Parts: sequence; C-alpha cells; structure tokens
Amino acid sequence: MAEHFLNLIGEEWAPARSGETFEDRNPARWSELLGAFPRSGPEDMDAAVKTARAAYRVWRATPPPRRGEIVLRAGLLLEERKEELARTMTREMGKVVEEARGDVQEAIDMAFFAAGLGRRPFGEAIPSELPDKFCFTWREPVGVVGIITPWNFPVAVPSWKLFPALMAGNAIVFKPAEDSPLCGQRLVEVLLEAGLPPGVLNLVQGTGEEAGAALVAHPDVSCISFTGSTEVGRQIATECGRSLKRVGLELGGKNAIVVMDDADLELAVDGAVWAAFGTTGQRCTAASRMIVQRGVAADFVDALKQRAEGLRVGDGLQEGVQVGPIVNERQLRRVHGYTAVAREERATVLTGGEVLGEGPLGEGWFYSPTIFTDVRPEMRVAREEIFGPSTSVLVADSLEQALEYANSTIYGLSLSIYTNDVRRAFTAMRELEAGIVYVNAPTIGAEIQLPFGGVKQTGNGHREAGSTAMDEFTEWKSIYVDYSGRLQRAQIDT
Ligand code: NAD
Repeated sequence: MAEHFLNLIGEEWAPARSGETFEDRNPARWSELLGAFPRSGPEDMDAAVKTARAAYRVWRATPPPRRGEIVLRAGLLLEERKEELARTMTREMGKVVEEARGDVQEAIDMAFFAAGLGRRPFGEAIPSELPDKFCFTWREPVGVVGIITPWNFPVAVPSWKLFPALMAGNAIVFKPAEDSPLCGQRLVEVLLEAGLPPGVLNLVQGTGEEAGAALVAHPDVSCISFTGSTEVGRQIATECGRSLKRVGLELGGKNAIVVMDDADLELAVDGAVWAAFGTTGQRCTAASRMIVQRGVAADFVDALKQRAEGLRVGDGLQEGVQVGPIVNERQLRRVHGYTAVAREERATVLTGGEVLGEGPLGEGWFYSPTIFTDVRPEMRVAREEIFGPSTSVLVADSLEQALEYANSTIYGLSLSIYTNDVRRAFTAMRELEAGIVYVNAPTIGAEIQLPFGGVKQTGNGHREAGSTAMDEFTEWKSIYVDYSGRLQRAQIDT
C-alpha cells in the first residue's frame, strides 16, 4: 500500500480537492513506489494563494534578522538530515548518492548565505540635490511568490528560490516537479520545523499543466519564479505577460567545453567526462558539446571514448556506480530519439547510444554514455538540449572558429575553455555568450555565492544566488524625506 502524501495549505495537510493522486517511482527500479501525491488543480491553488496572502501581512512585518534565524535553523536541520535526504533523492530521481549529497549541501550553503542577508543593507542612503532633504532606497517584498521547480536538483534549486524569497519577506506557494515531490515535501518540513509561521510557505503538488498552470494564472500571485525547460518557460512568460506579472526564468542550456591545442589534455578529459556524464547529463549546465581544436581532436576523442566506456551505470545507491538512470521513460525515449537523429544527420555514434535493459538494469531507465562525432554546428544534436548522457564532438580550426561554434545556439548558460594561453583565455572570457564562463574547469560547478543564470533563451535576464539573490523577489522603493519645512522643487530650485 503506497504512503499517501498531502498538500500543505496554512496549517492543514490536505489531499487534492479532486481526491486524485499521482505516483512517485524510483527510476532505477520502477517497481519501487515512494508514495502517492495529490494531483492538485485550480481550487487547491486558489486556497493556497489566499492563505499565503493572509500570512504575507504578518511575515513582511517580521524583522529580516528574525527571518534569518529561521532560515539558519533550516540550514542546520538540513545538515543533520543530509544523508537521509540524499538517499531519498537518489531513490526518487536517480542521481548517484555522492551527487545527491552535493545537492543537499548546496541548499545548506544557500541557507547559511541567505540567513546572513537579514543583517545586510536592504537599501542605501543617497544624497539629495536640495538642502535638508534625506533620500534612501529600501527593498520591499513583492507579495505572494509562486515557485515552480524541476526534478534534476530537487533540493538545491528550490533552496535558491525559497530562502532568498523568504528573507525578502514574501509568502510562498511552492509546486515541486512531479518527478521529485518527496524532496519538495522534505524541504518544506524542514522549514516548518525551523519555525516558519503557518501560511508563509504552502506546498501544492501536481502536474505542470494542472497545478503549475493554475499557479501561474492566479491573479493574486505577484511573481513566478520558474526553473525548467525553455519550452515551458516561454509559455509561462506569455501567460505572465498578460497580467504583467513579474517572472524569473532559469531555462535550458546547450553548454560547451572548448579544448585548445595547448590545453592540458588529461585535465580537459577529466572535466569533459564529469560535465557530460555526471548526473547522467541531466544538468542544465551539462556539457553536451565538446569543441576541440583539430590538432588534439583525435587524442581527445580516444581518451573520452575510453573513459565513457569505463563508466559504471546503475542504481545510484550502489557503491561504485558513476552514472544513474534517466529520470523517467518519456525522457529515456527522448534521449534515445536523439541518437536516431544523430544517425539521420550522418553524425557517427562513436560509443553508447543504447537503452540498457539487461539484468539488474532491466527494471530502470538506463542509457549508455554516448558520444557523437563528425558533428557539424548546424546539426540538431549540436543545437538542441538533449538532457541525457549524450555529448557531441565538434572540431574547430582556430580559437575564433571554436568560439563561433560555442556561441552558435539559442542558449547561453555555461561555457568553458581549456587553454594555457592567457591571450586565448581572456579572449574567450570576453567573447563567450553565457551567464557563466569557466577557464580550465568544466561547465558544471557553480557556487552559491556567485550569481547564477544565463543569457539568450536560457532566461529573461534574472540571476539567482550570490549578490543578486534577492533581486527577483523584491521591489525597490525610493523614499524622499524633506525636513526643510518649505516646498523645494527638484530641478527648479537649484
Ligand atoms: P519542465 O519545464 O518540464 O518542468 C519544470 C517544472 O515546470 C515542473 O515543476 C513542471 O511540473 C512545471 N510545468 C510544466 N509545464 C507547466 C506549465 N504549463 N505551467 C506551469 N508549470 C509547468 O522541466 P524539467 O523536465 O522538470 O527539467 C528539465 C529542464 O530544466 C531542462 O531544460 C533544464 O535545462 C532546465 N533546468 C534549468 C536550470 C537553470 O538554472 N537554468 C536548472 C535546472 C534545470
């Protein structure tokens, strides 16, 4: 009998009004059911938004340092539960447990970082052009924030949104991905235990089309913070545009590692293996393109192939497994579909390209680490996000051509270059069209104290974390106090 989980609206844990549920299964062994979750709709969302609106009044009046104490306690609780939560994560969405620990650690880091924001400036004092007039700015919360997140970082990504949004004084309705509802629930439980007042954070589970869309469309939601695919992000932006609702979008990527002929090749291959096949390639920052200078292309490809073929695929809870399953059957078909596309486009499937269904892998959604060679920049496998353990190798003749290839997609999240030539490194830092650039490190590895986000169709100009953590969740208010006792006209009484 499956455990039945509930939505949290105010103080009340409740099923969906419709009574319907959806199942949460282990992608490494789909016979294992983690639980049944409410399949919520517009009525559930409406109740959650109303509750959040009421709680907002109290929470926005709570001094930021007091908010910070709660977020800090949440970080400490996450630290205590790190192992348990990491194992839940591996069972729920498949990433190997070592990486799942990293996911929880990122949320801990974010909690500690965000908690400190409560004692940092919320504005600045700015001189007036007139005497006896005092001017300052102040950050204010936006109101009720709707948070919609993907399954691939089921604790870390929500934490980048939840903690800063709470620190800013907003109330929240949170809809986790339908492939990771349990991680979402555990994170909410931690915040409640840390002392968050009822109603400030509401949890509504469900599908994107039903629960997600209802949250986006709700007139009393002031801001939507979304991380997910570019396709869904575009729909959400369109809907938010109708009511001029504030919206922060963190979307897809088609990240690349550029390897120049002067690079430390072993280091570049280490980085390439980690960035292409870590998290089974299911990272928004995964390197799904390798752009290699011709002189070292053969050596690089040989080494990458050998390393990819040596990776151990399996259940992420098992010792020694390096690549876990793909999150679900639909995504497995999509990834495999791209191998067919590569063949149609006359790229070479150098290694991998197979659904792994034998023996202990027979009950999960496993795919072999895959490398495409003879890839040209105009091919679909070089342009579209695959979101699986498949990477394409492109050969470039010069730095200029490599950078042109790197910039030749609609995305702009994370790009990297391996070179020991300082001129090439600085040229790349300037020319690469991405929100995040790495030199002599792979496309993954962001730290929470730096802004995170992308350019072009990876987003809409917002950055999360770092010094920008609260920007998405606050409005600036400019305040002028005239204590001269007379009318002073700006720009006129000079
Ligand atoms: P997805 O877009 O399918 O779903 C993301 C979330 O949106 C889920 O909670 C889903 O239920 C919800 N959703 C779906 N349709 C909706 C709709 N019409 N209205 C409202 N909500 C809706 O993405 P996914 O498969 O969960 O995640 C993978 C994608 O996320 C990849 O494209 C990846 O690059 C991207 N991603 C980006 C970042 C980043 O920071 N840029 C980080 C992680 C993942």
